[in-house]
Amino acid sequence: MYDLIIIGGGPAGAAAGVYAARKKIKTLLIAKEFGGQSLVSPDVQNWIGTKSISGLELAQNLEEHVRSQEGIEIVDGDLVEGVVKSDSVFSIKTKEGKSFESKTVLVVSGSRRRRLGIPGEDKLDGKGVAWCATCDAPLFGGKTVAVIGAGNAGLEAVRDLFPYASKVYLINRSDKIKGDAVTFEEIKKNPKLEIIMMAETKEILGDKMVTGLKYLDAESGQEKELKLDGVFIEIGSIPNVEFLGDLVEKNQYNEIKVDHKTQQTSQPGVWAAGDVSDVLYKQNNISAGDAIKAVLNIHDYLNGVERK
Ligand SMILES: Cc1cc2nc3c(=O)[nH]c(=O)nc-3n(C[C@H](O)[C@H](O)[C@H](O)COP(=O)(O)OP(=O)(O)OC[C@H]3O[C@@H](n4cnc5c(N)ncnc54)[C@H](O)[C@@H]3O)c2cc1C
Repeated sequence: MYDLIIIGGGPAGAAAGVYAARKKIKTLLIAKEFGGQSLVSPDVQNWIGTKSISGLELAQNLEEHVRSQEGIEIVDGDLVEGVVKSDSVFSIKTKEGKSFESKTVLVVSGSRRRRLGIPGEDKLDGKGVAWCATCDAPLFGGKTVAVIGAGNAGLEAVRDLFPYASKVYLINRSDKIKGDAVTFEEIKKNPKLEIIMMAETKEILGDKMVTGLKYLDAESGQEKELKLDGVFIEIGSIPNVEFLGDLVEKNQYNEIKVDHKTQQTSQPGVWAAGDVSDVLYKQNNISAGDAIKAVLNIHDYLNGVERK
């Protein structure tokens, strides 16, 4: 019986692992792999205390930091497939058929980006295809880029790109802007922006790096091409919550609802943090910080400490 099982090995999972070990909580960390979503990023420039680091090196550092802690047990390369509660005990089953029991659970399983599923998207991932403008906009200084998707994430990506890119296309499949009207009105005024509506992206072009994209102009029925250095895909993300069933409450985006003071979910004994939660800003540092908050609260819970 563990005191705590952490599900995930991204920045949130790693931070939780280090703090749980240092609090001497009997902990098991289960992760498909260490590092999380920015693993594929060529250059992370906002991990505080580190000016520049590749996603891969960041992942290695996170894993090394967790493994250096005494007492923590780790199962990696496996996926949690189910979490069930019975008599205040959580039973956790993995894809490889292992099962574990714990008094508390911290869900830090993050999310995955919704993908277009078109040619070029996988091949040029990290080679001009980007998924996080807050993170990667500075890498596109003086470049021509397209943002696909005109929800709030897409509009904000456009805004994040203005200080760096020389030209930004906003490509939207329908004739409606789903994001906030106020943000749209604001970005529309910038002469760097060109908006292409009713455009279905068909292919991202390029051999070693992005050179453009092909789209179907639904109005004319013609296929057209744009010359580009980068493509930001902002069509939403999918929280990794399938293994939880109805154990915890989620919001309309399927993100786990948490009390932002403690990271507790609606289910006593279950905490969540990072991109899988309904936190407003999805970032490495925020995920790590919120997971630490969760572990400190779990430590209080296990020791019967109540704080006001
Ligand atoms: C391409 C890209 C670049 C980015 N660059 C930056 C950046 O420069 N700076 C920044 O601050 N943010 C960046 N972000 C955002 C940042 O990566 C996320 O905010 C952050 O990774 C969230 O951390 P997390 O630990 O909550 O979740 P994740 O990073 O999503 O980690 C989830 C973890 O859970 C594991 N997992 C998932 N499901 C299961 C399961 N069922 N069982 C076991 N394990 C599971 C995964 O393997 C992974 O270890 C970037 C995002 C992307 C997509």
